[in-house]
Amino acid sequence: MSKPTVNEEVISRLDSLRESYRNRLNAELKELGELLDTPIDSKSDLSILHAHLHKLAGSAGTFGYHQFGLLARQYELIINDLQSGDNAINPISIDTSTWLASLHDALDKNATQDAPSGVSILHRHAHMDKPHIVLVERDAMLLEYTAQQLELFGFQVTCLQDADELSQLGSEPPDLLLVDHRAGDLQQLSQQPVAFWQHKLQHIGCPIFFTGGEDGFQARLNAIRSFGSGYFIKPLNIVELTTKIVQVLNTHGAEPERILIVGEEQYVADAKGAILERAGMSIFNLNQPANLLNALRDFNPEMILILHYREGVIGTEIGAILEQFERWTFTPVVYSCMNPNAQIRQKAMLLSNFTLIEGAIDDAHLVGLCRARVQKIRQFEASLTQDGLTGLLKHASIKEAVHAQWLYAQRNSSSHFSLVMLDIDHFKRVNDTYGHAAGDSVIAAVGTLLKQFFRRIDKLGRYGGEEFALVLVDCSANDALRKVEELRQMFAKIQFSAKDVEFSCTLSAGIADNATYPNDSPQELLERADKALYCAKQSGRNQVRLAEG
Ligand code: GH3
Ligand code: MG
Ligand code: MG
Repeated sequence: MSKPTVNEEVISRLDSLRESYRNRLNAELKELGELLDTPIDSKSDLSILHAHLHKLAGSAGTFGYHQFGLLARQYELIINDLQSGDNAINPISIDTSTWLASLHDALDKNATQDAPSGVSILHRHAHMDKPHIVLVERDAMLLEYTAQQLELFGFQVTCLQDADELSQLGSEPPDLLLVDHRAGDLQQLSQQPVAFWQHKLQHIGCPIFFTGGEDGFQARLNAIRSFGSGYFIKPLNIVELTTKIVQVLNTHGAEPERILIVGEEQYVADAKGAILERAGMSIFNLNQPANLLNALRDFNPEMILILHYREGVIGTEIGAILEQFERWTFTPVVYSCMNPNAQIRQKAMLLSNFTLIEGAIDDAHLVGLCRARVQKIRQFEASLTQDGLTGLLKHASIKEAVHAQWLYAQRNSSSHFSLVMLDIDHFKRVNDTYGHAAGDSVIAAVGTLLKQFFRRIDKLGRYGGEEFALVLVDCSANDALRKVEELRQMFAKIQFSAKDVEFSCTLSAGIADNATYPNDSPQELLERADKALYCAKQSGRNQVRLAEG
């Protein structure tokens, strides 16, 4: 028998975790049965029952027991309503007699389905560093299970069970912190959750996502106030979560922001420039506004910071000049002015992408402001070439990338690349059966998987509706075949869920490389890959084909 691959090992560990979870569920259901057997006649009885149901609802879905989880959540909400009422508890008003039987029923139904939701087997390209995620989750089993799913998507995961353990992390921050908002001292958390998390997380230098069972405004507000930039509801939808993580990690720690400083007084401009440089930004200091146009051309800034300019030329006037150039209309301008008069204020309001700061601004806020403005303009620029649903290049941009790679290869005879055309099989059926939104989430998942699976130098595009084009750089046809074949197998293992039903999809692909067809134009290569894709479809789909002939 052949040795299992890493992915098979992980899948089998997931299976055994699911098995242990099932055993735990049985024990918890037994306890719940005993609770439901005794009459409920006080608020404290209600709260014990609530705690039980809350726990069941939070973890069951993650292990694939969707219907069971939904039912537990439904009962939890009933108890919730009763708890929030001021009236004395009326035991007759809660008919719990059928609850246990219904839960058992749902469990049996779920148990006949095979894999848990959202499990994918994907690992990052071997020579890429894996992003490091610190996961904090109170429930040990859920902790291990979620960690394994994240590992399958190519992340390196450190597991913690309690917020207290965060202090044991080394000085190097992780790439992302994913934290269950109840993973700490429950008494403190019930009284002052925001203060608790602010205290624990104030020195964490990475993006923070919270997870929790509650879906409401308050939970999201608490997460934002506790420095969280995301909140994900349990049971976690792993495709949605990893998509968001990939998005955040791609913007975090990216290229230095290019800031052009126009300063009236040299020493102020130098001092502010040094602060921004220390925060990792790239600075160009301009002390003569008359040289603005040359500086724009030479430095190509992403943001312009004007410091206290009043003599001769006013910050709003610089803003107005920039608006006249199509190239610079969207570039953010921040104008720090000690005592602006009414006229300056009014002009500032009418300029778009213009921020007027009155009086002094402290260093930390200045850094935060510059970073936020540059991030927005980067997002905007990316949206011009990137497809909104998948984050991959749009049709025109991927075609351009094919052309650029082809030109490069013409000049460098040793440069090989492969073109891949990829298409989801029977996608129309997915839309027709599960709805357009479910179809969209499948397309988005392909985008996330492609980004995780291929290298940064590869060019990945959404060519059309459910069709993708990839340029794999320095990659022979056979290497491409091996990789795309691996991707095909992984994609087929992802379980999607819609309307409480689970389903999976497959994809087909065709590959053509420049080394085998040196006389092809970029367009001819694309057509060749497309023909190979057509052959894969004709031969029964769910397969990868090399171009022939
Ligand atoms: P085949 O295996 O031959 O590729 O069959 P197919 O059903 O995947 O191919 P077909 O080209 O017949 O159908 C593609 C469908 O994809 C039709 C279109 O409505 C749908 N589609 C295109 N863009 C989107 C999108 O952005 N979202 C969703 N949900 N559906 C889309
Ligand atoms: Mg298709
Ligand atoms: Mg198609």
